[in-house]
This record gives sequence, C-alpha cells and structure tokens, in this order.
Amino acid sequence: MNKNTGNIARALAHWYAEYKRDLPWRDTKDAYAIWLSEIILQQTRVDQGLPYYYRFIAQYPTVYHFAAASQDEVLKLWQGLGYYSRARNMQVAAQTVVQEYGGVFPVDYNQVRALKGVGDYTTAAILSFAYNLPYAVVDGNVMRVFSRLYAIEEPIDTALGKKLMSKLAQEHLDEAHPAQHNQAIMDFGALVCTPKAPKCDVCPLRQMCQVSDSTLALSFPVKKGKVKINSRYFNYIVARKGGAALLQRREDKDIWQGLYEFPLLETDEKLSDVDLLPHLKNLAFLPSESFQLQRISSWNKQVLSHQYIYYRFVYVELLTLDYTNDALMLIDLHDITNFAVPKPVEKEIEQILSESL
Ligand code: SF4
Repeated sequence: MNKNTGNIARALAHWYAEYKRDLPWRDTKDAYAIWLSEIILQQTRVDQGLPYYYRFIAQYPTVYHFAAASQDEVLKLWQGLGYYSRARNMQVAAQTVVQEYGGVFPVDYNQVRALKGVGDYTTAAILSFAYNLPYAVVDGNVMRVFSRLYAIEEPIDTALGKKLMSKLAQEHLDEAHPAQHNQAIMDFGALVCTPKAPKCDVCPLRQMCQVSDSTLALSFPVKKGKVKINSRYFNYIVARKGGAALLQRREDKDIWQGLYEFPLLETDEKLSDVDLLPHLKNLAFLPSESFQLQRISSWNKQVLSHQYIYYRFVYVELLTLDYTNDALMLIDLHDITNFAVPKPVEKEIEQILSESL
C-alpha cells in the first residue's frame, strides 16, 4: 500500500466536509433513487441531469412504479438524454428487482452487477451510497484524479489501465466511510481536479501529487487512441396530408430504438437533391404520382458517441393515402409532441409548429 493512501483519504474527507455539492440523491439511502440518479448522471452533467431526476422520481416514486411503466412513457421522460438503450435497460432492471428481489435492491455485488445496464461503477455506487459497503467507485473523475496523483503512463482505456485504476481506487478507499469517500473523490474530480482547468494552486492534495502543475496535468489521463467515428446520412421524409404527417417507430437494434420519427431514407452518402428523387419514388409508401415534392431542408449534424448523423428533412405532400405499411401512422402534427422522438426530429417539429401558428 502506498504511504500516501491514508493521507489522501483524510485530505479528501476534510475538503469534502467544506465543499461538497448539495445533491438530492445524497440525502437518501434509497437504493432505487440512487440507481436512478447514477444512470441519469452517466448521460449528462449534474445541472442538466437534475430536472430529469426530479421528473422520474415524481412519476415513479418507487421501483414498483418504474417496473410497471410503459416503455413509451419512460422513453418520453428520457427524451433528450440520448443513449436510449439505457432507458430500456433500466426498465428491465427495475422488473428484475421487483420480480426477483421483492422490490429491494440486493446487497450482493454480483446480484447488483447482473442487473441490466448496471456496470462496475453503478454497482459500487449503489452498494456504497445505499448500504455503506466498501466498494470504491471508478468513474471518469476518479480515473483522472488517480492518473494525475501518480502520473500514470498506462492508458486508462486499456484492460491493464482500467485494472490499475480500480486497484488504486480500492486501496485509497476509506473503508469506514465508503459512501462519503466515494462522493468526495467524485466531487473533487468535478470541482478541483477538472478535465480542462485543474486548480493545482489551491489543491489540498498538491503535496502528494506527482503532477501538481495545472499545465502538466492536462497530459493525464493518458489515452490509447481515439475511436473511429462513422458518418451516416438520414433523409427524413416529412410526408404530410394537411395538418398531419406520417410517423413510424424505430424498431431495429440501432440508435434511438423505440423512439418515433418521420419515415427515414438512409443513404451511404450525402445525395444531391436531384439524385435523391429516384430513391424517393422507390419508397413503398410513396408510389409515383401519389405525392408532390415541396422542399428539402439543408443538412444538419447531430454528434453522437462514435457516430455523426447528418440529417435533413424532405417535405412531400401526399396526394393520395394508400400506404400499406402497418408501421406507419398518420398523426396530427400537434399530437406528435406526445411521442418520444430523437433530438433532430424534435427540433424540426418545433419549427413546423411555430411556422403554422
Ligand atoms: Fe489534480 Fe492538480 Fe490536485 Fe494534482 S495538484 S490532484 S493534478 S488538481
């Protein structure tokens, strides 16, 4: 064990007593509320995640309520957070807690870890925050802090690097106060040892830190390499009939699964307007002579992790309504706001509604 281990834990505890963030899920030992907050916070910053947390807790005060909710309703509440598979996984996990554990989150590490969508980090968070069990959390904040404290050259995105981080975190854990310690180190990473502007000058760990320089600190954590990003090209067909438009549900195992969208024509590249036309006529719900092309928007870009989605909207007026695809629904534009939709579609609907006012 490193001789600094105890000193670092003590310094963190002192710092935390003075500067800790006041967050609603810290006032509870309810494993359900903690689980909910942790999954939401994997998606977003605390200030953006808070309203989602309050909405979810208000709508589903217990794991029983969550387990019984409809998927559409959960996705609608989740809308805007991205990674929609997480919302679906949460429902499966909630159902497991209800059906297999009588509505109480288990205290066994492997049982919690086996819940759908729950990884090592969330398991340690639930067990330490709710049950005060001695499991160290390892998230991005924690890895950054340890990689700087010990100037770790091993990339954190390798199996070896991850193992090293877990070992360091566990060695430094204050086993008498695991909940407080875990929250302290995460707050410390979020407020002092920050990604872009670490406050080394005022850092209470400075004497024990092998980096201790706010410029040098930016070289840590070391990462192996950037993940390749794919580009995709979405042509959304806004097929309107008066004040209504066709809508469909995304069923495939892909981004935004379970959300609703305008019928989609995905192409391998950015097609020109002229090149797009023959593709439109090939769509089963748009037999030639049955529609009139009105306008095509310019391209926009949505950045997801590992994917760039280039998207645009192709407006057509349906002259006849003889589509036979069961997946398509003709929905009044005002009612579309009741459906969970991806961000690009949400923005376009807002635009359409504001124009029609
Ligand atoms: Fe992070 Fe700087 Fe403190 Fe080291 S001295 S732990 S790099 S803030």
